[in-house]
Amino acid sequence: MSINIKRIEAETRENRLGSITGYTGTIKDLVRQTSCGCLKNKERCFSQASNCSSGCAQGYLSGIIDAAIVNHGAIGCSADVIGENTTLKWGQNIRNLEHSNVKIINTNMTENTTVFGGIDKLKEGIWEAYKRFNPKAIFITTSCASAIIGDDVKSIADEIEKEIKIPVVPVFCEGFRSKIWASGFDSAFHAVLTRIIKPPKQKRSNIVNMINFNGSARDYIIEILSNIGLVPQFGLRYSTIDEISRMSESAATISICGTLGSYLGNGLEQKFGVPYVKSIQPHGIAGMDSWLRALAKITNKEKEVEDYIKNEKLRIAPELEEIRNKLKGKKAVIGMGPSFAHNYIRVLKELGVEVIWGISWHFDQHYDHGNIPESTVALSTIEEETPISVCDQQNFEILNLLNKLKPDLYVARHPGTTVWPTKMGIPSIMLADEYSAFGYRGIIDFGYRLIDTLANNSLAQNLSSRIKLPYSKWWFEQDAFKFLENEVG
Ligand code: SF4
Repeated sequence: MSINIKRIEAETRENRLGSITGYTGTIKDLVRQTSCGCLKNKERCFSQASNCSSGCAQGYLSGIIDAAIVNHGAIGCSADVIGENTTLKWGQNIRNLEHSNVKIINTNMTENTTVFGGIDKLKEGIWEAYKRFNPKAIFITTSCASAIIGDDVKSIADEIEKEIKIPVVPVFCEGFRSKIWASGFDSAFHAVLTRIIKPPKQKRSNIVNMINFNGSARDYIIEILSNIGLVPQFGLRYSTIDEISRMSESAATISICGTLGSYLGNGLEQKFGVPYVKSIQPHGIAGMDSWLRALAKITNKEKEVEDYIKNEKLRIAPELEEIRNKLKGKKAVIGMGPSFAHNYIRVLKELGVEVIWGISWHFDQHYDHGNIPESTVALSTIEEETPISVCDQQNFEILNLLNKLKPDLYVARHPGTTVWPTKMGIPSIMLADEYSAFGYRGIIDFGYRLIDTLANNSLAQNLSSRIKLPYSKWWFEQDAFKFLENEVG
């Protein structure tokens, strides 16, 4: 186990999981090199904009219903609050909840603050969050500026916590600590695991912690689990601090995403003995088979799960065949976080689409339970080889590659890389919902979405005929990996 709950902060993914952001090769080679311990990161000698772990930590925690966040940083560090607010309202909408804004305060660190210290501003921010939002817990997300000047965030949090008598918890997620923004999820989960989740008062043998983002498929999951006598406890977004504090009482923890779930799932197992389901993600058919069987093993529901799987597969078989025939011969490129990327390559293959390249934004050499990511291993056992790269959303590299490969379709999970292929004339799909292609029903819906996207490409064609891309002819003639240097580390 690589999680150290005695520390006040989570270790970065680079240090904990040997995560990398630069690689090009094939899925089988990636697994071979990882297995023998010889996989090294490749640095880029040129890079464009990337992402920040503070956004992941803050974005994720901002969905907790009765918590507030104080972002101790320059005002620009809170720029993504706009997106976080939009996402929160989308989730409130699908739950028929009254719309409210995220409860975030930024301490507006300025040049003066970095010279004279930000402690007073931080205190003011915490008190303001307490008065304005009346929260059950306050999380303080750190920034590059607060970390560089060494503001003692923990002491201030402890001091005010004694007065207001709710948890005031630092979340150490400053962007410069890690090149892998998913480290921000771990920072958030570390704070929750060490300060919010309490030891169990009673065990609840029918409850399963379900770690996800926005949970659009709640009804479907409730239905699936009810078939096997289980009840999901969704989290952490759209949950209360009280509900989260009782996650230690559940029978098991399961996650929609290996990248997201590794820290909290394994942390709950390590600290409270709640087993974490280690399977491939529940997208597509093999994913759902693996997810349900692994859950059944832990909860002794094997017979019920096998019956369910058999019936569902029989039910979708004719429609799936029809979809496969329509998608036969189509070629796609994928760009997503690592767990989603390696799962969706498999899902597209299940739908009969040829994946001619898969890009993941980073790669964890192992999860916190010590295994090479299950989805990556599963993909490497498929006979057909898949060319892949690891690239932290560097659009110059992605567009160069797409220009050479000319796929029928680009499928991504982040809008920042989806708009550019569309402007190149390539039909593109942005999978904002983590439950796209979820299970047996989801793969059918996803198949129709692919068919619809391929059927009408006039938007991408119109855009490409009117838009000048920011990259020169020279760059498109270069090797896409020209700036990927030799292995380091
Ligand atoms: S924490 Fe650092 S990297 Fe992140 S937004 Fe603020 S300044 Fe930028």
